[in-house]
Amino acid sequence: MKNLGLTILLASFLSYPVIAEEPIGHGGHAKVKAAKKAEPKHVTPKAEPKKHEEEKHESAKHVDAKPQAHTVHWSYEGEHGAEHWGDIAGNETCKLGKVQTPINIMTRSVESAPISPIRFNYTMSNGEVINNGHTLQVNFKPGNSIDVDGTNYALLQFHFHAPSEEGFDNIRYPMVAHFVHKSAEGRLAVVALLFTVGNENQILKNVFAKFPPHEGQKADIPNLDLGRIFNGSQKYYSFMGSLTTPPCSEGVKWHVLKTSQEISLNQLIDFKSLYPENARPFQPINNREIRVSE
Ligand SMILES: [Zn+2]
Repeated sequence: MKNLGLTILLASFLSYPVIAEEPIGHGGHAKVKAAKKAEPKHVTPKAEPKKHEEEKHESAKHVDAKPQAHTVHWSYEGEHGAEHWGDIAGNETCKLGKVQTPINIMTRSVESAPISPIRFNYTMSNGEVINNGHTLQVNFKPGNSIDVDGTNYALLQFHFHAPSEEGFDNIRYPMVAHFVHKSAEGRLAVVALLFTVGNENQILKNVFAKFPPHEGQKADIPNLDLGRIFNGSQKYYSFMGSLTTPPCSEGVKWHVLKTSQEISLNQLIDFKSLYPENARPFQPINNREIRVSE
């Protein structure tokens, strides 16, 4: 039975096209299984039959829901899965919004534009990783920021999704980190850093090693070298979008870095053993402009 869990785990992430050459020696069986799966979201063993009724008492309770993930009753599958988020009161934007994230970027149809580079004012920092019931999130005190298009945005937190929520040419990556920033005026800017499977990520090593296994648990992450986290090309795709979790608020400026970083297979498993799949499906682009830095 021990191996069954691992097989399901491997199947669940190998079922996504993975761009990295995979240094996987022991996943052959899982890979064959995964290749037959047309709908990867049904791979996870705890999937429940979907119901379409709304829970009225839940609706009333969340009328004033704020964008704090754990105050809202939602999940990635079953009756409160992504296709039903908009039915939970306070989250109507999830179904009515026209500028939603994540999106799939068809890279050939995006024209390069003279958009300004992101300046990362990141430094050695102490963070705190929390298991919030939907992901693992590393929170920061003020001290890090980005400058883009003449606006300064302070880093609040970063968190992970597996597989990546954003796609390039219909391909999702094994994992993504979303760095969430806020300007003095309260506008949000997210930088998405995609991960392929390869070498162990040294900068994030302590974060992966300290993932708290249970919802609500926290752990300190001292001396995280944020200044070295974006050490490749910083060219990026830019578009307007939303939060990718309820309440799906719009007006979020997105920056998806073209160059990915690596994490090891063990690091990916460390995350997926807690969150096997926490990615919202692609949302319609609806004629919005996507730009890529030259
Ligand atoms: Zn996110």
